[in-house]
Amino acid sequence: MTRVFNFSAGPAALPEAVLRQAAEEMLDWHGAGCGVMEMSHRGKEFGEIIGRAEADLRELLGIPSNYRVLFLQGGATQQFAQIPMNLLGGGVADYLVTGSWSKKAYKEAQHLAASGLGGSIRLAGSVEAEGFTRLLRQDELSLDDNAAYVHLCTNETIHGVELGDEAALPATRAPLVADMSSHILSRSIDVSRYGLIYAGAQKNVGPSGLVIVIVREDLIGHAHPMTPAVMDYKVMADNGSMLNTPPTYAIYIAGLVFQWLKAQGGLAGIEAQNIEKADLLYRFLDDSDFYENRVAVASRSRMNIPFLLRSEALNDAFLAEAKAAGLTQLKGHKSVGGMRASIYNAMPIAGVRALVEFMQDFARRHG
Ligand SMILES: *Cc1c(COP(=O)(O)O)cnc(C)c1O
Repeated sequence: MTRVFNFSAGPAALPEAVLRQAAEEMLDWHGAGCGVMEMSHRGKEFGEIIGRAEADLRELLGIPSNYRVLFLQGGATQQFAQIPMNLLGGGVADYLVTGSWSKKAYKEAQHLAASGLGGSIRLAGSVEAEGFTRLLRQDELSLDDNAAYVHLCTNETIHGVELGDEAALPATRAPLVADMSSHILSRSIDVSRYGLIYAGAQKNVGPSGLVIVIVREDLIGHAHPMTPAVMDYKVMADNGSMLNTPPTYAIYIAGLVFQWLKAQGGLAGIEAQNIEKADLLYRFLDDSDFYENRVAVASRSRMNIPFLLRSEALNDAFLAEAKAAGLTQLKGHKSVGGMRASIYNAMPIAGVRALVEFMQDFARRHG
């Protein structure tokens, strides 16, 4: 068996130690006589698994007690709809558009508001005209302090733009709703700065099919009457995320990832590793006249690093040679072109070193 260095944007690489433990426990979880996929979500064993996962997540992120943690289905995309259904309440919501994902969230909310949900969805600011290569500045935002919420995506996976410094969060009295799908648990955050945080699991947490929602208690219980029960945060919170069968195996793997993160020294430990990995790659890109990253330095993502080669004509050769060298899934998103290296928590520094060495060698041979 050979495992490659997998730079996929998502579903992405998982820590090898987690996969090994899951393999060991596949047929018999802790003496239960069956695997996690085969056990009742209402049984004592799964109760332990989900309880530990939530406790570890709370510990890692320092989630205050007035926030509920929900383990839901439908991915981050379903949250694009669920958020206005639960929070808009016929009012106004402000959306920051800083990349493809926040734009999708904005479009979905607009669609719902216009087709029966009511309320209104405002564009608080957009950097689309500049190709999504930087964050929005405070002085460019048009915000309504009375808005039901302000939505933003704190790491734009496709464009490689990250809001890392919480001092740069929109200055508003309205609750912030943040899509953290592609950088949750990669750095310390102050949960109390947000009304709601959500993240699809398949970037930094576990298998696809699971989305984590961390929501302040006072924001739940106000869903639009048409909201289906499985999409109502209050119903899900009251039922411990188990109104219906939750994505049990994905929750189990997420729980193993949380334990792995604690063993890395928690978020401080993993953040130090992430800084070292991202610095290594950005320093190389900035020193090179063969490769280029076009994102403004202060807006650069530690997780998703898009880069262009000197010529688009070299892309196919780059991908083929990288694959032969055990470096896979580097193709950039079609809307950006070039390459993208996603270096989430599970990517070891050795993988980034191997990528930089390969890129150096490729530039020498094709430059
Ligand atoms: C991947 C991603 C999504 C979509 O996630 P799904 O689980 O496919 O719905 C949304 N937002 C961000 C920032 C993402 O990276």
